[in-house]
Amino acid sequence: MNDRDFRTHAPGYWPEATPAEWNDWRWQMRHRITTLAQAEQHLRLTPAEREGLLLTAHKLAFAVTPHYFNLIEPDNPNCPIRRQVIPLPGEAVVTPGEMADPCGEDGHMPVPGLVHRYPDRVLLLVTDRCASYCRYCTRSRVVSGVGEQELETDFEAAFQYLEEHTEVRDVLLSGGDALLISDDKLRRILARLRAIPHIEFLRIGTRIPIFLPQRITPELCAMLREFHPLWMSVHVNHPRELTTEVRDALGRLADAGIPLGNQSVLLAGVNDDADTMRALIHKLLRSRVRPYYLYQCDLIHGSAHLRTSVAKGLEIIEALRGHTTGYAVPQYVIDAPGGGGKVPVSPGYVVYHDKEKVVLRNYEGRIFEYPEKPGDTSAVVRPGAILEY
Ligand SMILES: *Cc1c(COP(=O)(O)O)cnc(C)c1O
Repeated sequence: MNDRDFRTHAPGYWPEATPAEWNDWRWQMRHRITTLAQAEQHLRLTPAEREGLLLTAHKLAFAVTPHYFNLIEPDNPNCPIRRQVIPLPGEAVVTPGEMADPCGEDGHMPVPGLVHRYPDRVLLLVTDRCASYCRYCTRSRVVSGVGEQELETDFEAAFQYLEEHTEVRDVLLSGGDALLISDDKLRRILARLRAIPHIEFLRIGTRIPIFLPQRITPELCAMLREFHPLWMSVHVNHPRELTTEVRDALGRLADAGIPLGNQSVLLAGVNDDADTMRALIHKLLRSRVRPYYLYQCDLIHGSAHLRTSVAKGLEIIEALRGHTTGYAVPQYVIDAPGGGGKVPVSPGYVVYHDKEKVVLRNYEGRIFEYPEKPGDTSAVVRPGAILEY
């Protein structure tokens, strides 16, 4: 096992915890940092952070597991871990274009808690709770139990809908965090979905391996492997999040035969530079995780201080594609505001295309031509063109 750059941060701020306590995910959940006073015991908070903590608790709860809290540098207000979980006053400021439901999920729910946006796959929200709360959460309207709306997933109605909708072949379990529910409850949901013959593919979207690696127990892995093919999308934004504990938890999932992808969110002051992103994706490959998506930050209420330009995202992809392992390069996407779904955005490598040829730009900026196949009747989609129907 390659240990370079992977390190543990335990016990950190919890020197009194025994190893048995520390490694127990329920102990971690009981000892989460959830108040300003607790955060201030360990960190030198800035006035803005103090204000942020007071302003936002009614909108999206504040909670951080000891494991993740240990990654925060106590004296560095620009710590990239800190920016993800410690609220700032900007969260209380709604800027133009921001929405409570930026991906338009509520409008695509045939059944409460089941989002059916794409032809052949659905998103099932199995809980509204997470181990820690990301301040840029796209689902903050229903997540953490303190917001205006409540998640009221109707499981029976969802299973019935899926039984009737034979076009659905892929079910994505998310939330909240799907791995926060008990092994038994998760097993019952997975078993019920597996009993539907046309559902070929199950996947779980989770940040538990990063926030709470102790939850990835051998028992959980043994249970999950009964439901193959089962894939998992995890959520790592910064290389420092990949500690030895996280790498080992990801290793247990990979050893259980679960293919792992990562979904990062591009965040200002966290991972919005090519060097950080390169370090992240290389560490992900070493943890047997394939970088899957890089998301442009959704236009969620109070996210302006965490969002970057789209140009910045393209610049980062440009610095990676061709310069490093293809497996390491995620697809940059924007979840189209209002419910358009994920749209890939890429630096323009096709610079010209007609019936005779396609003109390409490689990663070094050199230009190449590839002749089109004569007589083909496929429509030529020129770069930037809008298809008309
Ligand atoms: C992201 C998402 C999916 C899965 O999309 P993939 O591109 O297949 O990973 C499915 N449904 C909804 C509503 C989503 O937001």
